[in-house]
Amino acid sequence: MLIPLTDLETAYDRNELSDKIEPLLNYDDKLNSALILVNIWHTRQISAHHGYDASQDILALIIKELLVYVKTDCCLLRTGNHEFALLIQNIKNAGHCQLALNKIIRDLNNKPLSIGKFTSKTKMSVAAALYPLQAITAQSLVQFVEIAMNQSEISNVSSVMYSEIMSERIIKRLQIESELDVAIQNKELEVWYQPKINSQTGTIYGVEALSRWRTRNGNFISPDIFIPIAEERRYIFDLTQGVLNTAFRNQKEWMAMGLNINMAVNISGKVIDDDEFVDLIEHCCGIWETAPQHITIEITETAMMNSMEESLNKLNILKKHGFLLSIDDFGTGYSSLEYFKTLPVHEVKIDKSFVKNMITSEDDMNLVSMMVGLAKNFSLKSVAEGVEDSKTFEALKSLGVDRIQGYYFAKPMPEEEFLTWAEYYLTNLEIDNFS
Ligand code: C2E
Ligand code: CA
Ligand code: CA
Repeated sequence: MLIPLTDLETAYDRNELSDKIEPLLNYDDKLNSALILVNIWHTRQISAHHGYDASQDILALIIKELLVYVKTDCCLLRTGNHEFALLIQNIKNAGHCQLALNKIIRDLNNKPLSIGKFTSKTKMSVAAALYPLQAITAQSLVQFVEIAMNQSEISNVSSVMYSEIMSERIIKRLQIESELDVAIQNKELEVWYQPKINSQTGTIYGVEALSRWRTRNGNFISPDIFIPIAEERRYIFDLTQGVLNTAFRNQKEWMAMGLNINMAVNISGKVIDDDEFVDLIEHCCGIWETAPQHITIEITETAMMNSMEESLNKLNILKKHGFLLSIDDFGTGYSSLEYFKTLPVHEVKIDKSFVKNMITSEDDMNLVSMMVGLAKNFSLKSVAEGVEDSKTFEALKSLGVDRIQGYYFAKPMPEEEFLTWAEYYLTNLEIDNFS
């Protein structure tokens, strides 16, 4: 039998863990060993608020609780500052193992633990994988349980049993992460443009720059997938810098051709939080000698939530320097009227989820109408995105929406295609259809 954890100072790495558990794994057709990772995550906060010693005392209490599960041929090892690996035996199948995980969570999660006068409730997540039902080596068992723990973090659930689908998903994600990093560094991402049309005159008010990623095998991966990954992996700053440089360069070239239009760029909350954010915008603008008055920075309401005051300061600086600001996906975030009043914006973009059904849904029509009215009352311009047909366009025009964006006019296009489209559109524009 392996001696249960007694040394609180040592943390076994993944290789050491697999060496330690290997002798305990018996190949059996009917019964499995379950490797469980236990991640205690509130001790970080205890350490921040009450000091390192307090967090270690609480951890010692948790270890005592965990030792209850350690029977013959089981083991409990420390695998990180706040993480433990528990190996238990005689598990019939994944369902049985899930019950064991549920029991640990029921027994220990939210359990109040006290040291002196100070009481703290345990916050933990657990994940498990089985040998030999799922993994047939100690090494893969360790790898699978880590994948399950990763899944618990991504989906924010406290107990996760490994499954094969997870492995495929995570391997795919890891592959995307590394390919994306290379693509950004090699400047392989493209910028496509979608026009914003002035709903009263029909002229092209501007374009929105949208990132496009074509992988080596020629497939496009949606920004809805790669932007969140770029944010998580901290590639978003470099990605944004690439988009800004391409967009401002193109805008300058278009201006020389007589196409003088606004350029809107999407800025993620992670970029706003960066200390270099204001410099990034101004620097890129400086390189291409773009006038800030011709740039719109699109931000979502949620992008501001992290550090509201700091973000507001930065946006106010940009506003003062002449940049235009737009609230993207308006209506889907935390918009309170108070908050709306304090944002230094010029434009609101009504989210496509409201626009899409406004002809068939009275509720959506009312909401769009309310948002257009709200923008007017605050002297802001309104944009409706996701306009796909003439009925929606006509309805928006009569509600007084200022700008229209959507497949009804044009999808996002590569630069050349956009220029061809713009030339054709402007030559055939029938002003009579508007106003
Ligand atoms: P978004 O900023 O709300 O951009 C509008 C999205 O709606 C775009 O999706 C556009 O292609 C799509 N769209 C436009 N008109 C229509 C329409 O009529 N019908 C429908 N069904 N969709 C329409 P896309 O290009 O896939 O981008 C998705 C999101 O990814 C963007 O949403 C934005 O949040 C993000 N994104 C794209 N490029 C960048 C970027 O360079 N930086 C950052 N931070 N985010 C970006
Ligand atoms: Ca946008
Ligand atoms: Ca949007």
